[in-house]
Amino acid sequence: WGSPSSTFAPLNKKLLSPTQISRRASTEQVITMIEKELLSAALSATSEGVIIATVRHDNKPDRIIYGNRAFEKIIGFDNASIINHKYNLLERLSKNTPVTEDEIVKAITAGKSIQCIRKSQTKSGDYFWHELSISPVLDESGTLTHIIGVLHNINERIHYQEKIEQQNLLLKRKNQQLDELASHDFLTTLYNRRFFDRELTRLCAFHQRYQIPLSLAFFDIDYFKQYNDYYGHNAGDRALRLVAEKINQHFSREADICARYGGEEFVVLSASDSNEATFLKHVEAVRLNIEQLAIPHKKSTSAKVITVSAGIYVAVPLRGMSPNYFTEEADHAMYQAKQLGRNRVAVARHIRMASG
Ligand code: GH3
Ligand code: MG
Ligand code: MG
Repeated sequence: WGSPSSTFAPLNKKLLSPTQISRRASTEQVITMIEKELLSAALSATSEGVIIATVRHDNKPDRIIYGNRAFEKIIGFDNASIINHKYNLLERLSKNTPVTEDEIVKAITAGKSIQCIRKSQTKSGDYFWHELSISPVLDESGTLTHIIGVLHNINERIHYQEKIEQQNLLLKRKNQQLDELASHDFLTTLYNRRFFDRELTRLCAFHQRYQIPLSLAFFDIDYFKQYNDYYGHNAGDRALRLVAEKINQHFSREADICARYGGEEFVVLSASDSNEATFLKHVEAVRLNIEQLAIPHKKSTSAKVITVSAGIYVAVPLRGMSPNYFTEEADHAMYQAKQLGRNRVAVARHIRMASG
């Protein structure tokens, strides 16, 4: 290969005309010179960066002896500063080197090319992405003498990909937000009725299949219309949030689903409390916690603070039973609790006074 200046024409040199060549050379020499000129012109014209480097006795790439015009342009070094530079200049400039030097040596020793995608730095410090392909050059005896590196700038492609990835991430976040909006109640941040109904249907089928009891509680704030009328809608909203928080705080296990069912109505679906007595105890505790919030309610005739009436239904879903049966039964029990004086919990079918 020799030194770059003797092997290749200067990069900005024009091709010699055949007459210029013939004046000083034999036919064979002319062909060789034309080939060299053409080769040099081709290397100068290509948009791929091409470098040639020598290899050491241990087959490690050593010194860069040639860099074409595209290579200079990509990396920002002029030919003079690249020639004779250690090959590992490229490694130093590279931010991520997915292919190690050992892998390169292994491949070229075996007479194979090796490719990688990397991010390198130009002389001015800007980063650029490129595909690098390193191929071995062997002499007539089959000894490895040089490597040829071809750099393909893929900056635009990577930037485009990054942009698409960013857009996808944004879209994913927007979808998550939409999901959140679609399944949650805006005022209380509990699940909404739509989500609850879907979960009830799903859990009903599951519990029916494995014959496990499912527990549902229906809460309704007592005399809430009077509260709104007397304290105003904003105070009503605040009270709704506080009541929702108390319910959610108590039923916070993975298997519990708390939802706002309607205006001042909340439901809890629990797969963890399979026992009616235990579930009743929890619902009763929530009722008491809400009473103990001590939110003044002058217009209530059951207490002078905000209270709830609740109904529960605990059963193993029967085959063919509509999931609505659970809400209807618990709602019915809640209605019984209202009838019995409010601020209490009732159990579906066999009404039980829990407190009051
Ligand atoms: P009961 O003890 O029998 O349950 O009587 P109630 O007044 O609570 O029941 P009713 O169904 O007559 O009234 C429910 C009230 O809940 C009506 C409405 O003023 C109030 N409400 C419903 N949704 C909201 C809401 O999002 N914000 C506020 N502030 N109030 C609401
Ligand atoms: Mg109601
Ligand atoms: Mg009410």
